[in-house]
Amino acid sequence: MPRLRLPVRLAARRCRRDVAGSPDGAACIAPAAPAATLRAQDRGAGWTWIRDRYKLDSDQSAAPGLPAGGRFRRAPMADRMLQFVRLEQHQPDKRAVGQRREDFAEIYRRFDTAEARAQSSRCSQCGVPFCSVHCPVNNNIPDWLKLTAEGRLEEAYEVSAATNTFPEICGRICPQDRLCEGNCVIEKDFDSVTIGEVERFITDNAWDKGWVKPPSPRRELGRSVGVVGAGPGGLAAADALRRLGYAVHVYDRYDRVGGLMIYGIPGFKLEKEVVLRRWKLFEDAGIAFHLGQGIGAGEGELSFEELRSRHDAVLIATGVYRNRDIRGPGAGLDGIVAALDYLTASNRQGLGDDVPAFDSGALNAAGKRVVVVGGGDTAMDCVRTAIRQGAVSVKCLYRRDKANMPGSMREVKNAEEEGVEFVWLSAPEAFLAAPDTPDAAAPDTAAPDAPAAPATDPLAATMAASAPGASGTSTGPGRVSGVRATRMRLGLPDASGRQSVEQQEDSLFTVDADLVIKALGFDPEDLPRLWGADGLEVSRWGTLKVNHRTFMTTLDGVFAAGDIVRGASLVVWAIRDGRDAAAQMHAWMQGRAAAKPADAQIAVAAE
Ligand SMILES: Cc1cc2nc3c(=O)[nH]c(=O)nc-3n(C[C@H](O)[C@H](O)[C@H](O)COP(=O)(O)OP(=O)(O)OC[C@H]3O[C@@H](n4cnc5c(N)ncnc54)[C@H](O)[C@@H]3O)c2cc1C
Ligand code: SF4
Repeated sequence: MPRLRLPVRLAARRCRRDVAGSPDGAACIAPAAPAATLRAQDRGAGWTWIRDRYKLDSDQSAAPGLPAGGRFRRAPMADRMLQFVRLEQHQPDKRAVGQRREDFAEIYRRFDTAEARAQSSRCSQCGVPFCSVHCPVNNNIPDWLKLTAEGRLEEAYEVSAATNTFPEICGRICPQDRLCEGNCVIEKDFDSVTIGEVERFITDNAWDKGWVKPPSPRRELGRSVGVVGAGPGGLAAADALRRLGYAVHVYDRYDRVGGLMIYGIPGFKLEKEVVLRRWKLFEDAGIAFHLGQGIGAGEGELSFEELRSRHDAVLIATGVYRNRDIRGPGAGLDGIVAALDYLTASNRQGLGDDVPAFDSGALNAAGKRVVVVGGGDTAMDCVRTAIRQGAVSVKCLYRRDKANMPGSMREVKNAEEEGVEFVWLSAPEAFLAAPDTPDAAAPDTAAPDAPAAPATDPLAATMAASAPGASGTSTGPGRVSGVRATRMRLGLPDASGRQSVEQQEDSLFTVDADLVIKALGFDPEDLPRLWGADGLEVSRWGTLKVNHRTFMTTLDGVFAAGDIVRGASLVVWAIRDGRDAAAQMHAWMQGRAAAKPADAQIAVAAE
C-alpha cells in the first residue's frame, strides 16, 4: 500500500468579503494564494476579471482528458484545478428514457477516468470548503477531488473511505443539491463541482481495482457488541467497532443485509449488487449476522433482555417502519397499499425471491392505472417503479406545488422524463369503489380522527397480502376504482416557515385508479411496548431518546443511532450517527474496563 500523501492546500482562503482589486467586488482572490478561491457574483464582470487574472487563452488546446478549449498559462494550481472557469459541469449521461423504463438498472452511466479527472479539476480548492461543512459525514471533498484530478486514484479512495463507510452509495443517492453540491462556492454562477458522481467513481473504481478490503482489527479486544438493525446506521457502527477489535453481532429481522438500502430504495437508484458486495466484505471481516432474527417479545423473536445479557453493549438501529396512513371514506378498500409493502415486493422480486403478493397482482402495477399519494423520495420511488412494472398510467398527487416538494428535484425530473404525471396542489378526499363491488359507496373504513395504522413489518405484509383470498394489503369492502381529490392552494408560512396548504372550495375532481399507493412518510414503531422495555424512553414523536453527546439511551449500555433517533432521514445521516455512536460505545466500554480492577479490589476488600 503506497504511503498516503495528502495534498497541501496552500494559503488560499475563501473570502467572505470583497477584496480590493476585484471589480465591483465581483470576485475575490487573495493575491498570494495560488489556490485562490473565486467567488464570482456577476458572471459578466467576474468572468472578465478571472480571465485577465489567470490569462485564460481560449486558443490553446486542452489539457489531456479535458475537452477542447482554453487553459491557464499562469498559476500552477490553476493548471490542474480551478477549471470551472472554462470547463462546464457535466453529470454522467443518463440511459435513454425508453430503455430505462424497461428495467431496474441504474439510470446514470459511470464516469470514465478522464471524465472524473476533468470534473474534479473544476474544484476551486477553497480554504473553507462549504461542501464538506454541509456533508453530514464531513467528507474531505477538496482533497479527494484534487487527488482524482491528479490521477492519484488509490489515495483518493483512501481519503474518501476514511470519513464515509459507503462512499459509493452516498455518491449515488445523497440529495447532493441540498448538501455538498448545493453549497459549493462556485455554484452560484458556474454550476457546482460534480461531487457525488466523482465520489461514486472513486469507490467503484477502487472495487474494480481490488483496493476495497474488509476491515481488519489490529487485535481482538475480547468484548462483544450486539447491533440491532443491518441498515446503514447499524452497519456503519458494526464496521467501526470491528475495526477497533470488538466481536460484532448484527441482528436483523430481514433475511438480507442493508435495511432500506436493500428493500426500500429501488435498483434504478442503487443497484442491489452495490449493497450485497458490502455484505460479503463485512462477513469477510468476521462480523456475525443473525438474519431473520427479530428482537422483541413476539414468537421466534429474541428478547431484548436476552440480547443485553449476551453483549457488553447494544446499539439499536432499527429505523422507522410505521406507515403514515390516509384517512377518509374508502381508505380501507382493496388496492390501496402502503409504499414500503409495494417497494419491498418489487425489490424482492428483482432479487429473484418468490413473492406471491407480486405474482397475484396485489403489489404489482402492471396494466393498472396507478395513483401515488405523497411528494417525497418514497413517492418518487413508487411512481418510477410503477412505470417500470408496466402501469397503464402513473399519477402523483401532491398537496403542495413543485417548488415545495420535499423530494429531490433530480428525482422529480427523472420521473417526469419517464412519463409520470404530477397533479400538483391536490389532496385525496375519498376513495371510490369499483361499481361491481358489494358496497360501491365505500363507507369510512378509517375515520378522520382514527389513530395511525398499526406498525407493519413490510416483509410480513408482502407475504400476508398473498395469502389465499387476500388481494392487497388493505382488506376493505371492495376494490378501489378512483380517488376523489380536492384542489389546494398555498397559504401563509407557518411557524416552521413552510407555506401552509388550504383547501379550495368546490374543487373536487376524480382520478381513475386501480392501484393507490400511500407514500406519506414513516413513524417509529413503539419499541418500548413491542420489546417489553419500559425503561427505554421515547420522545413525543416516538423516536428513541438519547443523550446527543454519548448516543446512550435511557438504559445503561444501550445506544441508538439512525432513523430510530432522528426520524425518517437519509442514508448519509444514518452512517454519520452509526460511526459516532460506535466511537461513544468504545469510549464507554473502555471506561468500564478501566473501572473494573478498582471495583474488583473493593469487592475483595469488602470480603
Ligand atoms: C423508499 C425509500 C427511499 C429512500 N431513498 C433515499 C435516498 O434516495 N437517499 C437517502 O439518503 N435516503 C433515502 N431513504 C432514507 C434512508 O433509506 C434511511 O434514512 C436509512 O436507510 C436509515 O437507516 P437506518 O440504519 O437508521 O434504518 P434502516 O435502513 O431502516 O434499517 C433498519 C434495519 O433494522 C431492522 N429492524 C427493525 N426492527 C427490528 C427488530 N425489531 N429486530 C431486528 N431487526 C429490526 C430492519 O429490518 C432494517 O434492516 C429512503 C427511504 C425510503 C423508505
Ligand atoms: S456523502 Fe453525500 S453529502 Fe457528503 S460528499 Fe458524498 S454525496 Fe455529498
